[in-house]
Amino acid sequence: MYDVIIIGAGPAGLTAAYELSDSDKKVLVLEKKPQVGGLAETKVFGDYRYDIGPHRFFTKNQEVYDLFLNVLDKDAVEVNRKTRILFKNSYFDYPLTPVNALFGLGIFESISIGLSYIFARIKSYIGITKINNFEDWVVDRFGRKLFNNFFKNYTEKVWGIDCSDIGSDWAAQRIKGLSLSTAIKFALFPNSKKRPKTLVDKFYYPKLGAGMLWEKFEEIIINKNIDIAKEKIVTDIVKKNQGFIVSFKDSEGNEKSEETKNIFFSNPLLEFIDIFDGDVPQKVIESAKSLNYRNHISVHVTVDKKLFDDNWIYIHSPNVNMARIADFTNFSEAMSVDGNYPLTLEYFCFENDEIWNKRNDEIIEFGLKELRSIFNVEFNVVHSAVSRSPKAYPVIKTGYQVHIDIIKEWLSSLPNITAIGRSGMFKYNNQDHAMATGLYAARTLLGFGDFDPWEVNVDGEYHEEVSNN
Ligand SMILES: Cc1cc2nc3c(=O)[nH]c(=O)nc-3n(C[C@H](O)[C@H](O)[C@H](O)COP(=O)(O)OP(=O)(O)OC[C@H]3O[C@@H](n4cnc5c(N)ncnc54)[C@H](O)[C@@H]3O)c2cc1C
Repeated sequence: MYDVIIIGAGPAGLTAAYELSDSDKKVLVLEKKPQVGGLAETKVFGDYRYDIGPHRFFTKNQEVYDLFLNVLDKDAVEVNRKTRILFKNSYFDYPLTPVNALFGLGIFESISIGLSYIFARIKSYIGITKINNFEDWVVDRFGRKLFNNFFKNYTEKVWGIDCSDIGSDWAAQRIKGLSLSTAIKFALFPNSKKRPKTLVDKFYYPKLGAGMLWEKFEEIIINKNIDIAKEKIVTDIVKKNQGFIVSFKDSEGNEKSEETKNIFFSNPLLEFIDIFDGDVPQKVIESAKSLNYRNHISVHVTVDKKLFDDNWIYIHSPNVNMARIADFTNFSEAMSVDGNYPLTLEYFCFENDEIWNKRNDEIIEFGLKELRSIFNVEFNVVHSAVSRSPKAYPVIKTGYQVHIDIIKEWLSSLPNITAIGRSGMFKYNNQDHAMATGLYAARTLLGFGDFDPWEVNVDGEYHEEVSNN
């Protein structure tokens, strides 16, 4: 009988296991993929390594930050952030600077952006702005013109739904602290300490890709005698006496079950509800049906020519489906193989979309066609592959929180089961948040207090911790 079975060896699951690794608790981590790291893994194809999308580590939680740096140790590389937006065949700094916008868009367009911004601010000032969704939120802070140019197209590529159907809390969290005036202020005074995190321009990155952090975590945890069983997909959870029976299948379809007193799950929340073999109230089932995830496709290609020197570029241009592109040698030179450049091209889709159902070779061909249309130069492809991440983005649709609250209430009635991490809690959050939820779940189990992972905020801070920034 295990003390705890942790479902998923992503950042949340591995951090929980790490925290438990010095205790006498008997822990088993079950991971469906052949590799650890979850969405933050680095895909390995022989010598070639690619993240599934660019990963920049940033947190306001000092403890989580220290853990990140301690585990990486000498393998942390300092990166100067460079990110731009591609729109109408021109590049714009991200975040947008006034001079850049003026030259990129021309004086008339810039004046029109300025006027639309002033109009939005006046409306807000006299209190007639209503903010019900993402579109309202951005228009309020940037003006309608900039919303149409810089936010609408990209956001709809990522989410696949109209910006007016996306919850405003996504914007508040994603581009928190940023408005046209703050973007201008921080462009003029780049060293200000109050810089919002969207604008942070230096960060540490693991030398061999974001997933290297999680490979190192795995090594530490295994050395402390915790079993991380990979290629084990959890298929069923049944309550039994004081504990649970967790059933899982390996890659050959062989089934096995283990008994445990506690479960931490970081697999997608809606999937957890499906595999939980117990009384699930009808309203929870209905709420789960109202929620949805967005899938993510990474087209990995290594090319023999440097195409750009940004860490990543947001592709706002409506004429291509690609949403973002990253060159990992611009994060860490060690990511280069034989002097070539490993890129990840990102596409977002739903399960029934055409691209999700194409073969990998067709997706690569499509990605390369778009890549060539963006960068009008000759290059050779020395390696290519596709990674698919189902349920990568919980869709933060307007009104989703009502459904999450119903599910949360039900979960809180299930003793010894704790949701952790991004997918497990249906939160559009980063690694630091996932790590903090794992830490706090483990600490509750260890009897250090009654920590609720739902109280971890987007910056990875527990509700009563005070931010220094
Ligand atoms: C394209 C992209 C870019 C991102 N960029 C950043 C960034 O710049 N900075 C940042 O900090 N974060 C970034 N993130 C977010 C970051 O990857 C996640 O916050 C983090 O990986 C969440 O960790 P987790 O452990 O909660 O979940 P996950 O990483 O999703 O891990 C869950 C694990 O559970 C496993 N699992 C699922 N179902 C089962 C099952 N039935 N049985 C067993 N195992 C199962 C999965 O295989 C997975 O390994 C990005 C994410 C994406 C998709």
